Amino acid sequence: MKKIIFTLALTILLNIIHAQIKDPKATEVWEPEPRAIMGSYNGSAPSDAIILFNGSNADAWWHGDSSNVNWKVDGESMTVQRGTGAIYTKENFGDCQLHIEWTAPTEIKGEGQGRGNSGVFLQNMYEVQVLDSYNNRTYSNGQAASIYKQSMPLVNAMSPPGEWNTYDIIFKAPTFNSDGIKTSSAFITVIHNGVIVQNHTEIRGTTPYIGLPKNPAHGDGPIQLQDHGNPVKYRNIWIRKL
Ligand code: MG
Repeated sequence: MKKIIFTLALTILLNIIHAQIKDPKATEVWEPEPRAIMGSYNGSAPSDAIILFNGSNADAWWHGDSSNVNWKVDGESMTVQRGTGAIYTKENFGDCQLHIEWTAPTEIKGEGQGRGNSGVFLQNMYEVQVLDSYNNRTYSNGQAASIYKQSMPLVNAMSPPGEWNTYDIIFKAPTFNSDGIKTSSAFITVIHNGVIVQNHTEIRGTTPYIGLPKNPAHGDGPIQLQDHGNPVKYRNIWIRKL
């Protein structure tokens, strides 16, 4: 008897659920509502982005010793000044969407890693390579838009020296537990000049010149732009926290 009542109740319940699912409204979600913003048009910063550089000053940045940026700012771009050192955002970031534009020097000097080398480091740890990879062969996992020494880009979408490149980077930060053990890797998507070159690539750890990736525990960190001694220019840099 109990079994019959149970079966009957279950049938009625399933019928009710089934009836609801037939109603298109049953699967509509109304809350919360995504907030409205102004999007990005031809590289312009979305209305909710943090502007890191718009040509007028480098106030969002400093060198490693917290001194003012010694790179050349000309109203549109800033140029790496050899020997002044890398620059870092004053603010720290974790998961983010970063837009950055850069151009390799028009004076063709050096070859391989010695031509137009700089770099965009997420959390001051993970380098998306900046390099003049236009008719300039180097190791594939060290060319422009590589995750340095880890992951080569899917294609070489490089603009010629003097013409602007865009990187649109979507970055998911790694996580660590309270013992300092990595519990999930960083992941990165990079779009170079409108072309996907890193498709949700796992970052296995730091991106050193020599040796294997390491995984020291860390929290949010600055964006670093590398001084590799070459006069690479940057412009129109904005970021959105995710
Ligand atoms: Mg570099």
